[in-house]
Amino acid sequence: MSKVKANSVQSIIGVILQNIPSDAALTKIEYEGPTIAIYTKNPRYLLENNTIISSIVKSIKKRIVVRTDESIRKSEEDARKIIMQMIPKEVGIVGTFFDTALGEVTVEVKKPWILTQEEGVEEEEADIRERDEASSEASIPDTGVSAQAQAYIQKQKQIQALITDLIDSTGWKVRIRKASHIASESMKQVNYAKKLFANERYRLLRSVGESIFRPRLFESTEATLITLGGFSEVGRSCMLLMTRESKILLDCGINPGANESINAFPRLDILGFDLEEIDAIVISHAHLDHTGFLPLLFKHGYRGPVYCTEPTLPLMTLIQMDMIKVAAGEGELPLYAERDVREVIKHTITLPYKTVTDIAPDIKLVFSNAGHILGSATVHLHIGNGDHNIVYTGDLKYGRSQLFDSASWNYPRVETLIIESTYGAKEDVMPSREEVESNFVGSINKVLMDGGKVLIPVPAVGRAQEILMVIDHHMKAGKMVEAPVFIEGMISEASAIHVAHPEYLTRELRQRILEVDDNPFTSEYFTTVEHTSQREEALREGPTIIMATSGMLEGGPVIEYFKSIAKDPRNKILFVSYQVNGTLGRRVLDGSRQVSLMGRDGKIEVIDIMAQVEKIEGFSGHSDYNQLMAYVNKLKPKLRRVIVNHGERRKVENLASSIYRIFKTPAAAPMVREAIRLY
Ligand SMILES: [Zn+2]
Repeated sequence: MSKVKANSVQSIIGVILQNIPSDAALTKIEYEGPTIAIYTKNPRYLLENNTIISSIVKSIKKRIVVRTDESIRKSEEDARKIIMQMIPKEVGIVGTFFDTALGEVTVEVKKPWILTQEEGVEEEEADIRERDEASSEASIPDTGVSAQAQAYIQKQKQIQALITDLIDSTGWKVRIRKASHIASESMKQVNYAKKLFANERYRLLRSVGESIFRPRLFESTEATLITLGGFSEVGRSCMLLMTRESKILLDCGINPGANESINAFPRLDILGFDLEEIDAIVISHAHLDHTGFLPLLFKHGYRGPVYCTEPTLPLMTLIQMDMIKVAAGEGELPLYAERDVREVIKHTITLPYKTVTDIAPDIKLVFSNAGHILGSATVHLHIGNGDHNIVYTGDLKYGRSQLFDSASWNYPRVETLIIESTYGAKEDVMPSREEVESNFVGSINKVLMDGGKVLIPVPAVGRAQEILMVIDHHMKAGKMVEAPVFIEGMISEASAIHVAHPEYLTRELRQRILEVDDNPFTSEYFTTVEHTSQREEALREGPTIIMATSGMLEGGPVIEYFKSIAKDPRNKILFVSYQVNGTLGRRVLDGSRQVSLMGRDGKIEVIDIMAQVEKIEGFSGHSDYNQLMAYVNKLKPKLRRVIVNHGERRKVENLASSIYRIFKTPAAAPMVREAIRLY
């Protein structure tokens, strides 16, 4: 291996050329966004000699992906036929998607456990993993290899051989994915946009790579954080990280509770430069208050990359498309059109957890599990030569839930921590999980036994899936009164995206989905509402549970149910998630007994709330006060400063002062429109 320090483009290409034998039949080396793509006419050679690539990766410290040369790719039709022939019938191929920009084919199958490789491991994509990151994966014990482990290794080898044969015979890189119980519309929309813009995306990825890998102009590690939204408030999360070299936007949400645009959207107007000057946008997770403004940036001319995890892309597409629908349903002008959402898809680059990725000449990014919703990530940014490390938690659950492992915390270095504080007040301490579930079951049983209905307003992504699993579990166990559960379509759609990304769920769920085909989101009790006639059925006499979006009663199908359910004192409106100030949900929860709503015909409708209203604490995807403090405590030895965001003023201030008092780490609680010098 060459000892050349590969900093410049020439030396990177030099190292690659020096170390790859001519048998590999390289045809070109190109940037593909933040990775370097090596094209080959002999993919089998590089697959079978995979140490060649991994040692180059170690030397140049850049991600490398092996691509097949276009000249060896069979037509889609022929490739599909070959795949159908070579993959055993019992695996059950549901569909294939050819990503022409990358030369990659995704094969969706019903029973991946018959052949799938270990999820998350890309056989020829040698990523640089963060060495010191805590890994939730159990490692094989070093005291000898068990027979079981040997059988597993043997199976992996067989699968590897099949994948290599598939790539060799089709000329396409092959990925196997678990097919969902229902087809996901948003995943289809993502694929459609990828296909439609394949040529543009190919060019885009090259130009993104050129700006990432250009030589650095400054050696400085100076960084400034500009707070644009979501500071001392919940909603419109957005901040700009500026170095002398680069400008990175972190999250870009809207505030669903604000009624004036000055408070609803991130304050990008204060930046004083064009959107084109932003080098990259990094998205922590799909929720509207972190992604709702993104299509508007494209509407107004941003054309750079957006980085997020793989499931975040279809989830945010679902949420952004829904926002257009909700606005139209209320006779309002949507903020953006579908074509703007497609622009987002076109420019999005997805990254797995724990993979170090260059996103600017002086900034590296690593996503890690944040435990909040599917694909939610903490954002770790290394500035300069790793001299300054920033961790932005996004929304954080430092504690296990049914769906996700607890948030990652073992970063090799963190000097600056930006942490959320949704539950940052001292009294924000959640009961134990057992207590939460028994409160929930008790609360629902009382209503159902009285013949009433329970309406659970839920955000489609995250809490909904958690609640579905809890209801199914307790009804099956005979602890919850059996009753039909009606689920609005958007929630089922989000569940399907969960099933398609089992590698982002807890190990137990992953195994249920991948190895025994036990789908945790389907149940004999559940009915997905797809037509208005089913809504009528849900509202007919008799006990039922209804789950509908939006979670804060801000538009969506929940409103129609709310109008009917609010009238009867036997019914209950049961909140399970955080209610942002200013939303209808918050007003109802705070005790309003009469609210006015805009009807479809534009007339104001006054609704008297006769139904019971309750909130069950503890299902939240956010950390409570103790969990936030425990998280800071874990990071404390490394920290120089903490910046607290994403919480009501009182909570942000309390968390910041607790951190300073207990850990003696300087902690700030900035407002929106502040600039903070980080170095
Ligand atoms: Zn969130």
